[in-house]
Amino acid sequence: MTRFEHKFASPLPVQAGGVVIVGAGLAGLFTALKLAPLPVTVVSVARFGEGASSLWAQAGVAAALAEGDSPEAHAADTILAGAGLVDENIALGMAREARERVEDLLRYGVPFDKDLEGHLSLGHEAAHRRRRILHVKGDTAGRAIMAALTEAVRRTKSITVLEGYAARDLVLRDGRVAGLELAQVDGSPFARNVTLAARAVVLATGGAGQIFAITTNPREARGDGIAIAARAGAVIADAEFVQFHPTAINIGRDPAPLATEALRGEGAVLINGRGERFMRAIHADAELGPRDVVARCVYREVTSGRGAFLDCRALGPTLPAHFPTVFAACREAGIDPTREPIPVAPAAHYHMGGILTDAQGRSTIDGLWACGEVASTGAHGANRLASNSLLEAVVFGARVAHDIAGYASHAATAPLMADAPAIAAVSRRNEEAEQTLRRTMQSHAGVIRDAGSLTEALGVIGTLEQEAKGDPRLVNMLTTAKLIAAAALARKESRGAHFRSDYPQASEALAHRSFLTLSQAEAIVREAVQSHRPAPRRRAALHA
Ligand SMILES: Cc1cc2nc3c(=O)[nH]c(=O)nc-3n(C[C@H](O)[C@H](O)[C@H](O)COP(=O)(O)OP(=O)(O)OC[C@H]3O[C@@H](n4cnc5c(N)ncnc54)[C@H](O)[C@@H]3O)c2cc1C
Repeated sequence: MTRFEHKFASPLPVQAGGVVIVGAGLAGLFTALKLAPLPVTVVSVARFGEGASSLWAQAGVAAALAEGDSPEAHAADTILAGAGLVDENIALGMAREARERVEDLLRYGVPFDKDLEGHLSLGHEAAHRRRRILHVKGDTAGRAIMAALTEAVRRTKSITVLEGYAARDLVLRDGRVAGLELAQVDGSPFARNVTLAARAVVLATGGAGQIFAITTNPREARGDGIAIAARAGAVIADAEFVQFHPTAINIGRDPAPLATEALRGEGAVLINGRGERFMRAIHADAELGPRDVVARCVYREVTSGRGAFLDCRALGPTLPAHFPTVFAACREAGIDPTREPIPVAPAAHYHMGGILTDAQGRSTIDGLWACGEVASTGAHGANRLASNSLLEAVVFGARVAHDIAGYASHAATAPLMADAPAIAAVSRRNEEAEQTLRRTMQSHAGVIRDAGSLTEALGVIGTLEQEAKGDPRLVNMLTTAKLIAAAALARKESRGAHFRSDYPQASEALAHRSFLTLSQAEAIVREAVQSHRPAPRRRAALHA
């Protein structure tokens, strides 16, 4: 299926109601600020200023601002990293808009690092052939960007923030978005459910890392947006492509703290428990090879029992000052990274897949937009280039705002449509089911997959779905997990972040994006389960 066969949302307003943005990470807040003075409601499941991957970004924002660099060169690196699946127009458009969006961020008060002459300092990162990463004080870019935007939102009267509410489902009328169902998440069994009338809903709910047992993503990154959109009939693109970061700090913390790639850029090396630098035998760039290659090698060392460690001793006493976040996480676990190697493991880090959107951020459902990590714009293809996701969040946040503002200039703040009955508190049993799902996705649909492991994962998801009824959060995780595993099963090749041990090579014939609705994913599941069912005679033998 090609991109051009999809019918994207029509912007014509039909229903009454306001503009509702789900998610208060960089994508959601930037969209809200860009929509001002149009009234908008921003819904956040976490407390405002918490529970977003954006807060944890360590490196920064990629932008071709250096002398001798160009948006074309930035797009070329993005396309190369994306392993044949990047939508080249989207990547070029994103790189071209980077300068304007960085100026917006500076205007909102983001204190990007500058040199002594007051020019923006640009850092280097893996797979960028130029220096183009805007940092803030070492590894604190995300926190600084979010602090500035949170403050800007507080000052903006047209933005209403509704914190502690989780989006559960879209309300559709005549196939168009008419509202959004929310559930209060105060932990009490009497949580209140409400429905907001909305003529435009923007899903900016971030990633889905929590579907895997080891992840760098916050607890709120459960793939809710994908599940909500898919249930309403939206097309989901490239769901199989999950980027695993090779060096999450493996100290049993959930989420796992990240040891940023920049450490390897500064001379840290990967060793196994025997002290061998295992990357040297695998890739000419050793530790600075492509993220997916390094992740697979770390995975093999960990699963073989040899263990994998990031040896940062060469960085010496400058490490605490240059990487304060990493240093603090290590010290908390009793590790002194200036003296001893840090244990690492690959962790689900970024989802290239998501709700299929066009260049304006419109989904395939009228009245529904998506931006940030939950969307699949085509900018990342099979593998995201480092520091392109914060850029994508602001470029597409601005485009979504522009598209909505074009017709909704008189939209009001979202009025309450109705109160719905309270939902039951999350039972202990479902928490167990959640952990089973996460372990299964990590081992069967993670860094290395094959038809057997993926079919088994889909079987576990099917069983857990029976137990999940009444726990909408778990239902969402299972729905998104099903889309990821079904898309991974359907892609019979290895490309970018998707590695199939039964199809270890890329196939020229499959060099295109994948598009799935929930019912198409369910058809893949049915077929897989059917074809893996033991033959009748063998089944009889099993029961004998
Ligand atoms: C540790 C780490 C380091 C990273 N470093 C970089 C980097 O240096 N550069 C870079 O470009 N990218 C980096 N990334 C990736 C980048 O941070 C994310 O892709 C980006 O921040 C996503 O922004 P977002 O606004 O889409 O999602 P988020 O920032 O995750 O925000 C999602 C929001 O949605 C809310 N939400 C979720 N579900 C619901 C629901 N059902 N109802 C209501 N609200 C909901 C969440 O609480 C949150 O407010 C990093 C990611 C991690 C985890």
